[in-house]
Amino acid sequence: MSISPAQLRDLASRADALRAEARALYASLPAESPERAHLQAAHQATDWLQRAGEDLQRAAEDLARFRALQECGFPWGVCPEHGNTLSFMVNVTTCRVCGRTWDNDRRSQKCREPVTWKVTDPVGTETLMCNGHVLGARAATNGATFTRLDVAQQ
Ligand SMILES: [Zn+2]
Ligand SMILES: [Zn+2]
Repeated sequence: MSISPAQLRDLASRADALRAEARALYASLPAESPERAHLQAAHQATDWLQRAGEDLQRAAEDLARFRALQECGFPWGVCPEHGNTLSFMVNVTTCRVCGRTWDNDRRSQKCREPVTWKVTDPVGTETLMCNGHVLGARAATNGATFTRLDVAQQ
């Protein structure tokens, strides 16, 4: 179970909607109404709601940015676009599909690509992984659920 930036953005927009409603309510009172003086707290609440909306929005962006920095962490590397398609020869790793190269044995190094997918297996175990590793997981896993994470674009 994890919070998504989208949930926070949703809360932020509800705070905005509440603010607009509270403001409209206050504005609907006639200027000369003696009740006006007794509704100052409600008027101030619109400012608090605005701040709450802004804070929730900021938390959503912070979380999205943090998610974008999380590393996949699988103990072997893959091509970020094509997955398990690497060959290693004479100190160079090459993707057999796109021809991209790396100056080391990428297959023996921990994957440092950003996490972009959550894979949930049938018993509910969640694994976060990058675009490249999700390709292999899609091919290998029966009955898993694949969820694209809501992460900030780099
Ligand atoms: Zn490739
Ligand atoms: Zn990976």
